[in-house]
Amino acid sequence: MDRPVTSKPRGICRYYNTPRGCFAGDHCKFLHGPNQQFTPYDESKTCRYFIQGHCRRGNQCWFRHEAKSDVAKGGPSEEACNICLEKPTSYGLLADCSHVFCHQCIIQWRDPEGKSSDMKISGVTKKCPLCRVTSRFITPSSYFYPQNDPRKQEVINNYKESMARVTCKYFAQTYACGKPCCPFGYDCFYEHKNSDGTPFVFRHGVRHYMKAFKRQQNPFAFFHAHENSYPANYSG
Ligand SMILES: [Zn+2]
Ligand SMILES: [Zn+2]
Ligand SMILES: [Zn+2]
Ligand SMILES: [Zn+2]
Ligand SMILES: [Zn+2]
Repeated sequence: MDRPVTSKPRGICRYYNTPRGCFAGDHCKFLHGPNQQFTPYDESKTCRYFIQGHCRRGNQCWFRHEAKSDVAKGGPSEEACNICLEKPTSYGLLADCSHVFCHQCIIQWRDPEGKSSDMKISGVTKKCPLCRVTSRFITPSSYFYPQNDPRKQEVINNYKESMARVTCKYFAQTYACGKPCCPFGYDCFYEHKNSDGTPFVFRHGVRHYMKAFKRQQNPFAFFHAHENSYPANYSG
């Protein structure tokens, strides 16, 4: 997909091909050439989602994913991912430990597909592969923050808030059938809403409902139905 033009160019810059050049540089809102689609101003825009902590578009994003020096924040981590040993382009933050992983690597590690049933039931895939501390979910982040950095909590909270605006697909499916349920109950990070727009509140949380689901004859039928309806990094 082509990146849309975000601000209408005002025409061709009068200075870009003169000896003095264009003094506006990256701020010029005129095109620097008749065949240019974007003005230098548009071209140099940094993705605001990236700056805020995470851009869903990743490498497909139209905007710059490099922090300019004045917006740079977060730990300048030279540390490599503990799974692939490369420097991550997007980090997967675990809430309770400071081990460094790529978002993709840690998601794959936690993805129960291909792992034994024992591993799924024991929840071992929800643990950090290094320190074994359990984290309920992975927060994607453009920056790495150590555990004691308050910005880590901020990024995690922002991510939770963004999830709370997304409809819980498991709930939506079962609500449509007249039997609303969600294995995470009131602990679900996603939105549970009645058809009239008011919030639907479960009486119990994940401890209660998950046990009930695991007692069912074929727990994996449930797990599979649920996996399909959640983003891959969700594990309750
Ligand atoms: Zn110019
Ligand atoms: Zn972006
Ligand atoms: Zn990695
Ligand atoms: Zn860890
Ligand atoms: Zn839910």
